[in-house]
Amino acid sequence: NHVKNLQSGEANIMVAVRVRPVSKAELKKELYPIVKVMDDKFITVQDPSTGPGDGEFATNQASGGVKEKQYAFDYVFDENTEQKTVFDKTTQILLDGVLDGYNATVFAYGATGAGKTYTMLGTPTEKGIFGNSFEELFTQMEDHSKDKEFKIKMSFIEIYNEMIFDLLLPNEKPLELREDATKGIHVAGISEIRAESTGEVLELLHLGNQNRSTEATDANNESSRSHALLLVTVEHKERNSGTEAEIKVGKFSLIDLAGSERASNTNNTGIRLVEGANINRSLLALGNCITLLYQNSEKKSKKYIPFRDSKLTRLLKDSLGGNSRTVMIANISPCNSVYEETSNTLKYASRAK
Ligand code: ADP
Ligand code: MG
Repeated sequence: NHVKNLQSGEANIMVAVRVRPVSKAELKKELYPIVKVMDDKFITVQDPSTGPGDGEFATNQASGGVKEKQYAFDYVFDENTEQKTVFDKTTQILLDGVLDGYNATVFAYGATGAGKTYTMLGTPTEKGIFGNSFEELFTQMEDHSKDKEFKIKMSFIEIYNEMIFDLLLPNEKPLELREDATKGIHVAGISEIRAESTGEVLELLHLGNQNRSTEATDANNESSRSHALLLVTVEHKERNSGTEAEIKVGKFSLIDLAGSERASNTNNTGIRLVEGANINRSLLALGNCITLLYQNSEKKSKKYIPFRDSKLTRLLKDSLGGNSRTVMIANISPCNSVYEETSNTLKYASRAK
């Protein structure tokens, strides 16, 4: 059980899958679902080229040679699962650590249109992982305010074509990644906002999200190539410990990844992803690092982790593996039209755990 293992520190990654509903527009186009959530752990995908094609989900291979594949994950969320439930079963378990000074990362992976931004940012009325995380952090900080003094800061940036841009303070000029002894790895000149309330934070994030070169132009290929990173720092020190008080810092990274459709040229045999001219370097590097980190933790081996291969993995160097914990939410569309992307996402997600 990865959830228990993640909580107890025996595992440091948990992988969940979330299926979004079929949209009205898709229904109009007579698209139909090819995925079936069996329970909260198992999901089955039907190859539509072998299926009945009338929206009837065949139940087994005997029924007319329909090809199906079943996958297992720590959690599978069907199209009716609410935002709060997704948060409670995944990211919630990272927050104790963050408040204690450990690093954690949660990211949404999947093809463009699969529901990543809905899951992470959400809508103004249906807040996602970002808003639910802040809400929970503020509550817990309040609960512990008698003996601990907290400070919480956030930045919101985009990685686009291996360049870093500030989404809260848009500027044409990309920002540089730096590493030094005191600050560790950080983005030079990034704007940091002292977070006060969930409402205020969400307003800033919705505005910032509009600054992504991406969301406005969904039909454009470039739209899928930007990663949005919400970087939260939670500092605390014990009250009544005088001037000697040690300040502990937990870094929490929440990431709406670039669309995976271009990075999904995988072969069946292994983890190697083939990098073509237009494929997102950061997304490939992330996949490689996570797989290797997982192998290291499983086999107690000490394989070299190529964090330096991309901006994203360089930035996350101290937030993946080691003492830090990671949640991956793989988002998929249920529709027959994107069978290829859906199976690639599920394969990528299976390799991560
Ligand atoms: P992505 O960020 O992966 O490209 P989006 O999050 O923008 O995809 O989702 C595509 C569309 O589907 C949006 O209109 C979004 O509001 C809707 N959507 C995604 N997931 C859900 C969900 N779980 N419930 C309802 N609507 C969803
Ligand atoms: Mg998006």
